[in-house]
Amino acid sequence: MNTDVRELYQEVLLDHGKRPRNRRRPDRVDRRIEGDNPLCGDNITLYLAVEDGVISDASFEGEGCAISTASASMMTEAVKGKSVDEAAALHDSFHRMLTGVNGNGSNGNGTGKLAVFAGVREYPVRVKCATLAWHSLKAALDSDRSNVSKE
Ligand code: ZN
Repeated sequence: MNTDVRELYQEVLLDHGKRPRNRRRPDRVDRRIEGDNPLCGDNITLYLAVEDGVISDASFEGEGCAISTASASMMTEAVKGKSVDEAAALHDSFHRMLTGVNGNGSNGNGTGKLAVFAGVREYPVRVKCATLAWHSLKAALDSDRSNVSKE
């Protein structure tokens, strides 16, 4: 990655960290999940509205460092309008990008602009900040499935 691209990526992260999108309490909530990262002190509450298997709204509240806030901001933007299955696949791609197998993360192919987080991999203590929102998403999606099977 050349320096210009790296700086552009950092700008995107800073922008979302300072002016997070979708940080609000929504009118409609189907799934509500709280997540925290005690290593850094980040915490978020994730809200999803799911209609006919599609995430019609995604938003969050909470406080955290710039990376966790930017991650929650971009995650909610990325999954809104996606099906539950697509969102789960995106979670897997994001998780693979940041953790990988045997420490070799993917280059973020298939994650679109979420690839800005690939650089976080170089700072292991920050990986949990970047994945907090995504772990919460996964928990919310899984709770969806368990509720469905109970009905
Ligand atoms: Zn953090």
